[in-house]
Amino acid sequence: MASMLTTNGGPMITAGNVDLNNCDREQIQFSGAVQPHGALLVLSERDLLVLQASANCPALLGTPAIDRLLGQPIEHALGQSQAGELRDRLQREAAGLGNGPVHVLRAALPGGVFDTFAHRVEGGLIIEFEVVAAPAAPLLDLYSDLRSTIARLQATHGLQAFFALACDQTRRFTGYERVMAYKFLEDGSGDVTAESLAEGLQPYLGMRFPATDIPAPARRLFALSWLRHLPDTNYQPVALLPEQAAGGPLDQSRGLLRSVSVMYTSYLKNMGARGTMVMPLMKDGALWGLISCMNHSAPLHVAYEPRMAAEFLAHMLSLLMAAKEDTETYEYKLRIGATLEHLTRAMAAQSIFHDGLTKGDTTVLRFVDATGAAVATADGVVLLGRTPGEAQVRQLIGWLGKSQTENPVFATDSLTALYPAAAEFEDTAAGVLAARLVPHRDDYVLWFRSEIEQTVHWAGNPDKPMEVLEVDGEIRLTPRGSFALYKQSVTGRSAPWREMEIEAAASLRRAVLEVILRQAEALETANRELSRSNVELDSFAFVASHDLKEPLRGITNYATFLMRSHGEQLDEDGREKLRTVLRLTSRMDDLIESLLHYSRVGRVDMALAVNDLEVILDEALMTLAPRIQETGAQIRRPRHLPWIRCDRVRVRELFANLISNALKYSDAAADRWVEIGWEDSFETPVFYVRDNGIGIDAAQHQRIFQIFRRLHPRDAYGGGSGAGLTIVQRVAERHGGRVWVESAPGEGATFRFTLASDDKAS
Ligand code: ADP
Repeated sequence: MASMLTTNGGPMITAGNVDLNNCDREQIQFSGAVQPHGALLVLSERDLLVLQASANCPALLGTPAIDRLLGQPIEHALGQSQAGELRDRLQREAAGLGNGPVHVLRAALPGGVFDTFAHRVEGGLIIEFEVVAAPAAPLLDLYSDLRSTIARLQATHGLQAFFALACDQTRRFTGYERVMAYKFLEDGSGDVTAESLAEGLQPYLGMRFPATDIPAPARRLFALSWLRHLPDTNYQPVALLPEQAAGGPLDQSRGLLRSVSVMYTSYLKNMGARGTMVMPLMKDGALWGLISCMNHSAPLHVAYEPRMAAEFLAHMLSLLMAAKEDTETYEYKLRIGATLEHLTRAMAAQSIFHDGLTKGDTTVLRFVDATGAAVATADGVVLLGRTPGEAQVRQLIGWLGKSQTENPVFATDSLTALYPAAAEFEDTAAGVLAARLVPHRDDYVLWFRSEIEQTVHWAGNPDKPMEVLEVDGEIRLTPRGSFALYKQSVTGRSAPWREMEIEAAASLRRAVLEVILRQAEALETANRELSRSNVELDSFAFVASHDLKEPLRGITNYATFLMRSHGEQLDEDGREKLRTVLRLTSRMDDLIESLLHYSRVGRVDMALAVNDLEVILDEALMTLAPRIQETGAQIRRPRHLPWIRCDRVRVRELFANLISNALKYSDAAADRWVEIGWEDSFETPVFYVRDNGIGIDAAQHQRIFQIFRRLHPRDAYGGGSGAGLTIVQRVAERHGGRVWVESAPGEGATFRFTLASDDKAS
């Protein structure tokens, strides 16, 4: 074959030089040959001179030898009468000839009767003569069948049923043993979504074919013509003579008889197909899928009329299917909407919102099509369906939180490509859709999709020995060989997330935020009420204690007066009772004083300023100096205290209370010590007062902070009102901090406190 060049200067790839490395670029429209169930003539359009003819014209049509045809008018080939009819028809149909083959004639020639088709290409008219085959069904039935089929197709519900019916009907019209509806996915591979089968054949339904099974050039041509018919996969191509006419190879893009690529026939043969027909399914001008027919037991030449019926059906399918697919998407959207509503209601009904997402029959897992889901909040991680382990999910969230900060919703069908650690669990989570609920927090809802390989059945049975097409040690374009190739390309990949699913995740996120917001509002209202009642309590304590002071002072005064002026008139018993009255009133005065003090801590505004805590501690220790001396305790200050924003007087009191307790509650005669220090912490410094005293039982750790709660008799360990720690707690809390104790009996006690909020430690 003469070497031809493409526009970019490389050699043109055609049937003559195609191999496994270049078949993706094979110019299959320039096959230079036809299939043997017909013959072809190329005519000049103006005067219908024969420019090119398939080598089988004399044998099949009964024309004179090729060299006596070339350059001669069409009459030489077809005889006067048939040529005259053809001329008439061509003239009448001239306007439509540019759109592909038009049936112009059923020609009775010396070789037999032929359906004759004409279409225009650059440089002339292609006239194709096709042997008339016997139709599978009577023609009259065909029309009414077609009509009722279309009515039934319209009535089907869902794409699945739609295609199942379409396959059944196509098989009836054409007589093929297998008819499949094949849908292309975004990566170019295709699923068999419906199938109609003769008995005893192995079904391909539900299988996926790799993208390489239908190379790019074939796809281009599929989109150009509505039907590709190959009656016999074992055919011998018939050459066109001469090889080129009118300045170049003949473009048979739309031709009915075009000889197909050897790659294609090899592939079909490996599938066990002896005859095939393929019709494209188009949506919005793009190739959406195929109706693919196969005959396994024998070659099958389908007659023109049923082929027309099948082609018409494919047209209708394309139109109806677009609408059906939109309906399906619409239904999916409805389902998402209903689930969202349900989840929102469930979240609002639960005190912890994420229970609404993870408990009950309808969980986030049902929200979009996913194999697993996870909800992660401060309260923990809940896993649903097939997911990676909890630790892996936490790590993934850590990565998402750091790297995917642009958008609150993140989606990928190939997680390992971005996050290599995902290789460990790509069988369960090759694809991830993630919605971050709150900015800067690791609260997420995640959906997982398994690896494609795990979810589909592959065409090509690896255990079945088959004819393998091998060139230069490379195996390709056999179901098994291309399967292996495809397997490589989908490893670690899930089905892609659809735009509407990503939008749905964003909607769920908004719904969660709203619920959180509403719950926060409710909490704030409750808090406000609580703090109002706290204020009321404080003022009650203040008023009560303030008003009690007066009468108490009266009692004390009168008792003192009685003791002094009339003490002698009483006997010893009487005097003792009077002394008890005095002791009790003094005690009561202490209690009232503490209560008053406590209520003041809550009521009076804080005087916040940045203070040197070291100085405040000095002052507190100064007020305690007599006590320290008395006990002989050693005061340890391992580290300078920092500067901090606080209320100086209150914090001094806080230190004084803690240190005085530390001095008090000890049995040791010697070696007593109190240590005051602090530790750096991520959020805010943690201060402590530690002693080596008697310690506190864990059961009491909470109770000691309650007002007037004492663990010892009043007079033991130097006594106290039981309000000290309550005041300490109040001071810490008014600074936004808190106080807690670590202690065990006999092991001393460590009281820690903060003077600002420390979320982490809570
Ligand atoms: P009190 O005025 O009785 O000291 P507090 O509110 O200061 O009241 O303390 C409550 C109780 O907690 C005390 O009665 C004591 O039993 C216990 N307690 C407080 N500090 C210590 C400590 N450093 N070691 C052991 N027990 C302590």
